[in-house]
Amino acid sequence: MNNGLQSESQKFSLKQAVIRIAVGLIEQQEQIITKTAPPITSPNKHIKLGIEQLSVLCIRHKIMPPRHHQEVVDWFHRRLEDWPGVLGQFMQEMDFTEPLMFFGRPTDLTYELAERVNQGYELEIEIKDLPFKDILELCTRKQLDRQYVKARLFLVEHPYLEWGTREINRDLDWDLEVRELIGASYEPIPVACRVMRDGYEQIALCPRCGWPLAWQNNARPRAFCYSDLCSRLVERINYPEQWIAYRPESLRTNRGIQASVVAPEQLLVQLRNTLEAKGLTCKLWPNVDSYDLYVKFPSGIVWAIDFKDYSSPRRIALELKPFKESPYWDKAFYIFPDHRNTPRYNKVFYSVWQERCQENSNLSRIEVLFIKKFLAKIEQELKSSNI
Ligand SMILES: [Zn+2]
Repeated sequence: MNNGLQSESQKFSLKQAVIRIAVGLIEQQEQIITKTAPPITSPNKHIKLGIEQLSVLCIRHKIMPPRHHQEVVDWFHRRLEDWPGVLGQFMQEMDFTEPLMFFGRPTDLTYELAERVNQGYELEIEIKDLPFKDILELCTRKQLDRQYVKARLFLVEHPYLEWGTREINRDLDWDLEVRELIGASYEPIPVACRVMRDGYEQIALCPRCGWPLAWQNNARPRAFCYSDLCSRLVERINYPEQWIAYRPESLRTNRGIQASVVAPEQLLVQLRNTLEAKGLTCKLWPNVDSYDLYVKFPSGIVWAIDFKDYSSPRRIALELKPFKESPYWDKAFYIFPDHRNTPRYNKVFYSVWQERCQENSNLSRIEVLFIKKFLAKIEQELKSSNI
């Protein structure tokens, strides 16, 4: 039997192994995209080390480690909580439940794990949402509130620029430094996105998030977006209805920007549009470092909204903070997208969140809702203020 201390150190070791593997998988993925992947005979050093560390743990717990390439691949595609024996149990306790790979591509969990250690290890992977963090820093320093909102909205509305930088440059209203940083948030369309159809190269955009899809050509073509989430949410992602001609000058947001800014905030912008259509006064990102959406009812009541799309319910429950008091609000809400609404997500989230609310009364003032429930609440408030 394990005593507590031993199992903690083994959990740590398992976490290290999985993080190493994640880092290796992302590195490999980057090499595939940029076409610099080494031959299959020289395996990625992070993956190799991670598997070695994993095998040591397996042997300690009398679990058969993956024996050859195919078994390794099988393990990576299995949900981590379904890994054999005590490994799966450890994974569940650490809130690592998703698989590391989905149809041969790294999952969101893998990206999250790799990004978490990005700065700690010496890796060549850039922290790709950096340009956006720089925009925030620059606009705060130069007090460019309006430019900040404009830049954020521009990115959310343009995951793909057909005419490349021309689309950024033709707007003369940009602060020059902000404009530069926006340009740095984009990359050329990778070769993997371009498909020869009817004699010329074409691309297709993801119906959910608008990012140019990448293709893996096996017997049946398979589309990949920035995240496995799009494959799960878009039913016919492998059969796009619309194709557009590829242009060498076209650009797309880099993956970091797409994952941390564009895709999650598209839902926020949609929510803003829905609320405005109901006659409410809305303001996106009313202060540079405050909450996401300011909503004013005809009655004068103000609701503050912050929108969060995290795959880990535990991480989000630990990271949520009290709302800033300015701009003024009467009620504050954390809103989650409906695709996260599963019994497991709720259970894990509330077990941590309730504990935090007991310790901090500023948190207990905030209501946490999924979008559908929140919209019902809006209707209720509109009705009651009309009486
Ligand atoms: Zn997508």
